[in-house]
Amino acid sequence: IPRAPVTKAKENDLRSPICCILGHVDTGKTKLLDKIRQTNVQGGEAGGITQQIGATYFPIEAIEQKTKTMTKYEKQTLDVPGLLVIDTPGHESFSNLRSRGSSLCNIAILVIDIMHGLEQQTIESIRLLRDRKAPFIVALNKIDRLYDWKETPNNNFRDSFESQSRAVKDEFETRLNSIQIELAEQGLNSELYFKNKNMAKYVSIVPTSAVTGEGVPDLLWLLLELTQKRMSKQLMYLSHVESTVLEVKVVEGFGTTVDVILSNGYLREGDRIVLCGLNGPIVTTIRALLTPQPLRELRLKSEYVHHKEVKAALGVKIAANDLEKAVSGSRLLVIGPDDDEEELCDDVMDDITGLLDSVDTS
Ligand code: GDP
Repeated sequence: IPRAPVTKAKENDLRSPICCILGHVDTGKTKLLDKIRQTNVQGGEAGGITQQIGATYFPIEAIEQKTKTMTKYEKQTLDVPGLLVIDTPGHESFSNLRSRGSSLCNIAILVIDIMHGLEQQTIESIRLLRDRKAPFIVALNKIDRLYDWKETPNNNFRDSFESQSRAVKDEFETRLNSIQIELAEQGLNSELYFKNKNMAKYVSIVPTSAVTGEGVPDLLWLLLELTQKRMSKQLMYLSHVESTVLEVKVVEGFGTTVDVILSNGYLREGDRIVLCGLNGPIVTTIRALLTPQPLRELRLKSEYVHHKEVKAALGVKIAANDLEKAVSGSRLLVIGPDDDEEELCDDVMDDITGLLDSVDTS
């Protein structure tokens, strides 16, 4: 049922989009994450990039810095406060996450090695993304391995490509074409992102190198472009909480905790929450909301910063009683004063079968 928003959201009411990264082993997922995170942009720090629980947060100023070389080609208005990138790359973590109506990941990056083309887990990832109707883009990584590639660190792809020899350009085109054919065999139309006139029908390909950083500006630019232009509805703040348990962990001094990605809304100390447990729903109260201490302050007593309240989107650790049997991938809901607790318990437990299935097969 289509519902009009009560008040028209202003641009600055948008929350940060959330991005996941997946693909075959050794395609460069971890390295690409590291490269995106690198704060030492020449001519000053791209400040404010913060390590959260299970995720890295990029404030819009940092992204602006990192996409500077794109401005000669593309103009962009930046409406979102930043971008949240989930740190655990790969298939396992992603397939563990619930599917139904999940708002965990707004956009995914599927990494393909340009020298290897589609591999087994690439194909599994495509199925997963398709099943979950998750929008994604392809990072065609390791372009620096094309024979005789001349690197310009952290450059946009088009400028780097222009400065290559005829032979390099030819090898790129040949490899790109064969990968587009492989994607078509999986039922996917694809196109280089700057030639893509129909983002709804064609998957965009961004050539990248996680070693030289070439194409990384393009990747960040495209993530923002797609999420801001095509998903602004999903990025509006909601009054209710949407969050997903990434991991269940025992932490000294806190007992069993859950690491959660808060996709929308607020969490507060003292909130009554409900999540999925192995033996039934768990109803408990948030004792502490924790994020990691900034690196330079690691000598302080605690590893964590405590928060009274946190706002989406972010990754946060929750300490509470009775979390021992919590199931990763579960939704986590807040029980408001007018909510029917039993109904919410049923809601979160609806997912248990799917969650346990994916645990069994992984
Ligand atoms: P993951 O398994 O997908 O996380 O892959 P990694 O990030 O661990 O990378 C696998 C290997 O490929 C490592 O040795 C990386 O240094 C290398 N690698 C990753 N990206 C690139 C790239 O863009 N160019 C080159 N030449 N090597 C890369």
